[in-house]
Amino acid sequence: MSNKTPVIVYGAGISGRGAAQVLADRGQQVYLYNDAPAKVEPELEQTLTAAGGGVKIGQSAFYELLQGCKQVVLSPGIPCDSANVLAAEAKGLEVISEVELGYRLYGGHIAAITGTNGKTTTTTIVGEMLKRLPVPSAVGGNIGLALSKEVESLPQDGWLAAELSSFQLEKVNTFSPDIAVVLNLTPDHMERHYTMEAYGAAKQNIFRFQTAEQVTVLNYDDPIVRTWAAESKAQICYFSRHEQLENGIYMQNGDFVISWQGQRQTVCNISELHLFGGHNEENVLAAIACGFFAGVSISDMADVLRNFRSIEHRLEYVTTIDGVPYYNDSKATNTDSTIKALEAFKDGHIILLAGGHDKLTPLEPMMELIKEKTDALILLGAAKERFYEAAVKCGVANIVLADSFEDAVQKAYKLAHKPQVVLLSPACSSFDMFKNYPERGRCFKKLVLALEGGKSE
Ligand code: ADP
Repeated sequence: MSNKTPVIVYGAGISGRGAAQVLADRGQQVYLYNDAPAKVEPELEQTLTAAGGGVKIGQSAFYELLQGCKQVVLSPGIPCDSANVLAAEAKGLEVISEVELGYRLYGGHIAAITGTNGKTTTTTIVGEMLKRLPVPSAVGGNIGLALSKEVESLPQDGWLAAELSSFQLEKVNTFSPDIAVVLNLTPDHMERHYTMEAYGAAKQNIFRFQTAEQVTVLNYDDPIVRTWAAESKAQICYFSRHEQLENGIYMQNGDFVISWQGQRQTVCNISELHLFGGHNEENVLAAIACGFFAGVSISDMADVLRNFRSIEHRLEYVTTIDGVPYYNDSKATNTDSTIKALEAFKDGHIILLAGGHDKLTPLEPMMELIKEKTDALILLGAAKERFYEAAVKCGVANIVLADSFEDAVQKAYKLAHKPQVVLLSPACSSFDMFKNYPERGRCFKKLVLALEGGKSE
């Protein structure tokens, strides 16, 4: 597209600001548009103005922009069926996602990762593996770094590990990564996609435009994702915790094994890693697939895995007080991720802190597992009454109601003794008490470390 034809970047979040910057850096006339007043760095605004564009706010500005522009770059937060997007399409403008833009601007290699859960963990491991290659690499996407911005400085032989949400995978029409991974699919984001079919279709866009020389990596153990092999034109590489695959990545007696085109190689054993839980085994298998097809050596992959610690707020070990370890799983904002956390502690004896902003999802499967795995359930936040009722109904025995977040941590401390573990895994978002899950996780760690004797972050 000619630089003279202005482009609208819709949404002034991380992705939108990144895309606008990248386009303006290339001399493109670009308007960064947001429905409501937004914080835009003065330097960015200056760059946009210098390239003939600027920042525009509010509905009427959008309709004016539609007159002269040819393309809309959509931020992931903007639903594709919003009135403005439909109006742009009706007017004949091309609407693409920020990921599609990044892809079009970049000619290098991409390992792209999607799934309902595990994206950040897997992408982070893959990012570490790619650093071992003799070419520049980066991570970008949903991980909090605009993809189009991260690829800006990568050469054609570089590698990008891209974390992609279903929102980012809408409005792509040429995006074709060398490696496309689907970790899992469980119900989520129905407020945006409405049906599981639409949610799945968005996720399938990660491999929809791949060609025969590229690779689609699919979770063999996920009954839905497994069937998606039929939808991809690329080579299929399955991964499995349970099945020894002829062609694929799998586990055998705790070993992570690559079996590909008649060759079998062992990367390392689960006992050597600091990650735990079946879900993390899946993340490691998927990461190994990415490293393998990107050309990272077996010994480099093993080294990365052996040195990898859990990332902040995901089953993160905090400290041990009086023989009781404390874990921060503040990122567990839905019941499925709390189930995975409970399953990860094989011996049970968990003192679980749960509750927060209630997402009103069904609680029974989680409560059944809570009954089996916990010695005490400490409930907090706006969800605590509904959680309490569900817990009682399922026969959970030791339920404690906390008055505040501090009170919940204090109550856990007073109750806990060896061989128990204290786990914050709320199964709720944090908006009732905190700005976001990282703030909740940091608050938890601070309170725990203070218990230990005045230490803090
Ligand atoms: P995402 O980026 O997809 O949200 P994260 O790696 O940030 O995934 O993990 C989010 C939550 O889900 C954490 O509580 C984590 O322990 C849990 N989790 C991580 N990997 C998986 C997986 N493969 N399947 C299910 N849950 C997972």
